[in-house]
Amino acid sequence: MELIIVGTVALDDVKTPFGEVKAALGGSATYAAFAASHFAKPGIVSVVGEDFPKQHLDLLEKRGIDLKGLKKEGKTFRWGGFYEFDMNEAKTLRTELNSLENFTPKLPDAYKKAKYVFLANIDPSVQLAVLEQIENPSWVVTDTMNFWIENKKDDVLKVIKKTNTLVLNDGEARELFKTTNLVQAANKALKLGPSSVIIKKGEHGALLFTKDKHFNAPGYPLENIKDPTGCGDAFGGAFIGHVANTKVHDEWNLRKAVMYGSTLASFNAEDFSLERLKKIKKEDIEKRLAEFRQMREF
Ligand code: AMP
Repeated sequence: MELIIVGTVALDDVKTPFGEVKAALGGSATYAAFAASHFAKPGIVSVVGEDFPKQHLDLLEKRGIDLKGLKKEGKTFRWGGFYEFDMNEAKTLRTELNSLENFTPKLPDAYKKAKYVFLANIDPSVQLAVLEQIENPSWVVTDTMNFWIENKKDDVLKVIKKTNTLVLNDGEARELFKTTNLVQAANKALKLGPSSVIIKKGEHGALLFTKDKHFNAPGYPLENIKDPTGCGDAFGGAFIGHVANTKVHDEWNLRKAVMYGSTLASFNAEDFSLERLKKIKKEDIEKRLAEFRQMREF
């Protein structure tokens, strides 16, 4: 396996001003792997319960996602949340860790040789345990969220030290680095070890910081946003997918990866759960990327 993604595979209850779903397919690894699968063949490291519907597993496999690293035991991780009219911020109603509580990842041999690793949002001690088993990774991308920053900050910082590209949203960056200023937050993150830091700003795009360069990606002007759940994960998945596919780690290529991230995130917001990501094709992605390119010319 060239690319592995560790994160949650979940059943989500989500309510937005435009509708509601219950026990829908979700989870950080799910969204990330779906987005990444347009660029590379990802393998998922995660756990689901005996209650996890087979149709969801079939859907992942149909997209070419490898499930050798997906364990099955106990009860599936469940998340419930809602969005108000400002859809940039998810409000968590409940987080039931269930089988994630005692999850110790054991990587299949083929995964240990992975060169590209996405440590998507999950318990940072699980992120560390996965990283320790990978023999010689070329590029590690890490994401996290307020839940882990508030509950396991020391572990979050340990993971960041072993990361090449750190991906955070603006609220998380302010919370983790205790500053209201995103440039200061990015500089503090760069001092910890990563050579690049991406701060996602919801529908307003993303900022890429490297040692002495700064790139500002716009958000796609979507007219219909139904559900932003998983946009951050889809962003990260497409980002690492493009880097894994091209194997080029320079700033210029990371910019392109950011634009693919914004593209997949924008598609994801157009419908609930995986409904939109399930349907898009490579042509749709390239068409939207071209629109992004035009949008920035002046
Ligand atoms: P995003 O909207 O990109 O931040 O990610 C949403 C997904 O993250 C949902 O499908 C949830 O199942 C999952 N999720 C929610 N809380 C957590 C958590 N504490 N750790 C890992 N994944 C989570």
